[in-house]
Amino acid sequence: MNNLVTIKDKQFKPYISQQQITTAVKNIADAINTELANDFPIFLVVLNGSFMFAADLLKEVTIPCEISFIKVASYHGTSSTGNVTELIGLTEDITGRTVVIVEDIVDTGITLERLMNVLTRKNVKQTKIATALLKPQSYKKQFKVHYVGIEIPNDFVVGYGLDYDGLGRNLKEIYVLA
Ligand code: 5GP
Repeated sequence: MNNLVTIKDKQFKPYISQQQITTAVKNIADAINTELANDFPIFLVVLNGSFMFAADLLKEVTIPCEISFIKVASYHGTSSTGNVTELIGLTEDITGRTVVIVEDIVDTGITLERLMNVLTRKNVKQTKIATALLKPQSYKKQFKVHYVGIEIPNDFVVGYGLDYDGLGRNLKEIYVLA
């Protein structure tokens, strides 16, 4: 096959086409435009992987909204504080707001859980979760993922913002290990 791509030591084959991505993104935007029309949501784009999905999604979002970019950092605190999660980059006061988390992929949901714990402490009105990809066989958390682009099996994918060892984020389509 000539459309394999090599990233470092591994080969990847086309998995989800640009057309499939565009359709999935449009469906999410349509649902958000309908359901959150009166909520003035703030989108929290979880970097790095979500940048491409967020750009496509937010071009299709037509309701009044704000957009902020965050990183989730997790480190071991003292024995009394346990694992500490910090949101880097969130400067807005989100008290009482409708927050839409924008994720590239939800796998086990551990990242999402950390994020949700922080947001709960900030007394937001409600949190919605939008993800380009979801691995339902791997996802073990109780949070509802409201807006899912495409469900995939437990395969390792790259492209459309997702990296393999820092590479491949710029690919337009989504690839899977060949
Ligand atoms: P979780 O905390 O839900 O297990 O994993 C979330 C993070 O793991 C994602 O934001 C992403 O960085 C990484 N991840 C999970 N599955 C994949 C995958 O198939 N490909 C890539 N490139 N990253 C993944």
